[in-house]
Amino acid sequence: MSKLKIAIQKSGRLSEKSLELLKECGIKFPNGGGKLIAESKNFPIEVLFLRDDDVTKYVEQQVADIGIVGENVFIEANLSVNVLEYLGFGSCRLSLAVSKEVDYPGITYFEGKKIATSYPFILQKYLKEQGVSATIEFISGSVEIAPSIGLASGVCDIVSSGSTLMSNGLKEVDKVLDSQAILISNKALSIEKQALLDKLLFRIKSVLNAKE
Ligand code: ATP
Ligand code: ZN
Repeated sequence: MSKLKIAIQKSGRLSEKSLELLKECGIKFPNGGGKLIAESKNFPIEVLFLRDDDVTKYVEQQVADIGIVGENVFIEANLSVNVLEYLGFGSCRLSLAVSKEVDYPGITYFEGKKIATSYPFILQKYLKEQGVSATIEFISGSVEIAPSIGLASGVCDIVSSGSTLMSNGLKEVDKVLDSQAILISNKALSIEKQALLDKLLFRIKSVLNAKE
């Protein structure tokens, strides 16, 4: 019998809520201490625990059939999968920030300057739309320190409360993207897997409706 494979974040900001959503759908898992794969006893589904950066790729490659990932990470991956549902958790935004001393005149501030980010694809697109030409410096983490070490004039990074920016002497000046967790699926599911997915989606929609 066919089983649905869902990829979720192993440990991080989306992990707990992703598992909670499945539980609210009535899907039970054994308490797997540190296991990377968990199989449900009461629904034909298997959970793969991955880095959030790998979820989209594995869904596209059909290593997993569906996945839960931040919209920011999904858009940056620029891969071909279906977006099935907005899940209402993991809310954040991708924003441009500069040193709090800067008298920010608007997006033209970045013309000819360098911006550090882990989201080069999204930022490039945004700058193009805004008609601004800037250099993008890719860094995979601790983006907020870039201005203070003289690596860039600003950053483009994930913000939720803004406290990380503030503690690094930065202020948010432009919003590039709003994001939340989304459910994605592979584009070529078998009929059996699609039937299981429809069943799961029906439950997810009921859970989300009840929360509204
Ligand atoms: P991994 O080890 O899986 O690569 P990570 O460190 O890249 O984890 P997290 O910090 O756990 O990722 O964030 C996962 C997702 O949670 C983000 O991509 C984003 O969609 C969402 N998110 C919500 N609030 C925040 C926040 N304040 N900072 C960062 N991400 C947030
Ligand atoms: Zn990550």
